Amino acid sequence: MNFPEETSLDTMLKTTKHPCYSECAHEYARMHIPVAPKCNISCNYCNRKYDCLNESRPGVTSEVLTPEGAYNKYLVVKEKLPNLKVIGVAGPGDALANFEETKKAIELIREDDPEMTICISTNGLMLPEYAEELIQLGVRHVTITINTINPKIGASIYKWVYYKGKVLVGEEGAKILLDNQLKGLSYLSSKGVLCKVNIVMIKGLNDEYIPEVVDKVKECGAFMTNIMPLIPAEGSEFEDMPLVSNKELDELRDRCSLDLKQMYHCKQCRADAIGQLSQDISIEFRDSISEDQE
Ligand code: SF4
Ligand code: SF4
Repeated sequence: MNFPEETSLDTMLKTTKHPCYSECAHEYARMHIPVAPKCNISCNYCNRKYDCLNESRPGVTSEVLTPEGAYNKYLVVKEKLPNLKVIGVAGPGDALANFEETKKAIELIREDDPEMTICISTNGLMLPEYAEELIQLGVRHVTITINTINPKIGASIYKWVYYKGKVLVGEEGAKILLDNQLKGLSYLSSKGVLCKVNIVMIKGLNDEYIPEVVDKVKECGAFMTNIMPLIPAEGSEFEDMPLVSNKELDELRDRCSLDLKQMYHCKQCRADAIGQLSQDISIEFRDSISEDQE
């Protein structure tokens, strides 16, 4: 792996045991704690589902936990999974649109185990505001979803953006979101945080322009990109959009890999996923804490 020069030795070592950042780390487990239900933007491909036991994709969870509930569940999981190395906040909404809950959960887990790798994923809208605090909290792995760098395309992907008390639509909303994503990415990368950029490949909308996105995020310091196929979720604005084939996806990844490290093994996990990437065993831990602990 080629790490940016700002990366500390500790972050490099932790990255070798992070199953998403390092494809060789498949024996290690991650746990997503679903403490972030709200979101501050509206992506046309989003359909968040709670209490869903059968569906496996981002935004789906069978429960939303308080920071204390998530901590109690973490203690149960850690006891059973000695290979647990990563705790992530990946929704079901946006980690930073629920910053107080995200922060509290991280603090509780850090207090128990300062060596645990903590990562978050975000749409990036609030990164300029919270990036420094994330660093202070010991977060060294951040995923930002950046689907385009063009506000015109952004206006077709994002229905609205809620920023500083205002709902912004069209290119105006998209522009603020895209500016903040790149600002946050540049800042975090310059401080030694490894940023993975997720890009949802939407056929006919942003697919042709993804290599430009990869170039731009590389320039801003991204460590790797993870191009993922659109899941046309039922009930979302994009439910009738075309599917992306594995061949199309891998061809685009291969092309972009000439510029920047690519992730080929993403499982598009649930917001409450637990275990190794190859086997989500979150079902075994459902109801593992009593309601009053949540
Ligand atoms: Fe849904 Fe995530 Fe988009 Fe928010 S950022 S609307 S949770 S897909
Ligand atoms: Fe890793 Fe992809 Fe799952 Fe996120 S969605 S935890 S990047 S495999």
